[in-house]
Amino acid sequence: MNIKANIGKLRVSVPAGVKIVAVSKFHPNEEILEAYNGGQRSFGESRVQELVGKQPGLPGDIEWHFVGNLQRNKVKFIAPFIHLIHSLDSERLMLEIEKQAVTNRRTIPCLLQLHVADEETKSGFSPDECRRFLARGKWRDCTHVQLAGVMDQMQVRKEFRLIRSLFGEFKSDYFPDDDNFKEISMGMSGDYPIAIEEGATIIRVGTLIFGER
Ligand SMILES: *Cc1c(COP(=O)(O)O)cnc(C)c1O
Repeated sequence: MNIKANIGKLRVSVPAGVKIVAVSKFHPNEEILEAYNGGQRSFGESRVQELVGKQPGLPGDIEWHFVGNLQRNKVKFIAPFIHLIHSLDSERLMLEIEKQAVTNRRTIPCLLQLHVADEETKSGFSPDECRRFLARGKWRDCTHVQLAGVMDQMQVRKEFRLIRSLFGEFKSDYFPDDDNFKEISMGMSGDYPIAIEEGATIIRVGTLIFGER
C-alpha cells in the first residue's frame, strides 16, 4: 500500500470544498503517520478504546473525528480532544456530551446521525425521531454541544438525496442563521463520488487510503 499516493489520487478526485476524513480504524500509527506526512490532517476512528490508544502517540495537530457508535460511559475519554462527533443519535448521549464538554471547558461539534432505511437495528435517528428531537428543543440548553449538520452511512443514491433534503429541512426550520450547521457527512470508499454529487461536505474514506482492514 502506498498510502501517500492513495491520498494524492483521492484528493484530485474530490472538490476542494469537500473534507476527506481518513478512517484509520484497525490501522497502526505508522500508517496514520504515513498519511500525515502526505499532508492528511483529519482522521476518523470508530472505537473509543482504539482512538484513545492511538491519539497520544500522534501529532497534536491531527483533527480526530469519531464516526462509530458512541456509548455514553465512554464520552469522557474523547471529550478533551475530539474535533467532531459524527454519531449523535439520542438526547441522552447529547446530555452526556454536554456534561463532558463543560468539564473540559470546550464546545464539542456533533452531527445528527440519521438512518433513512427501515431496518430497526441501525443506529441513528429515523427522520421522524430527529424531527421530534429538534422540536423538543433540549439541544438549545446544551450550549457546549454545537450541532453542525447530519451524518449517514447509506450507500444508495436515493438515500443520499433524502439525507440532503433532511439537512435542508432541519437547516431552514432550526438553523437558518447558524453558520455552524453546515455539514453533510456521507460517502465512503465505495460510494464517495455519488455522495459528493448528492451534496456531501465530508466524506469518510478508509479502504481506498489504507487498504483492506
Ligand atoms: C469504516 C468506516 C468508514 C470507512 O469505510 P471504507 O469503506 O473503508 O472507506 C466510513 N464511515 C464509518 C462510519 C466507518 O465505520
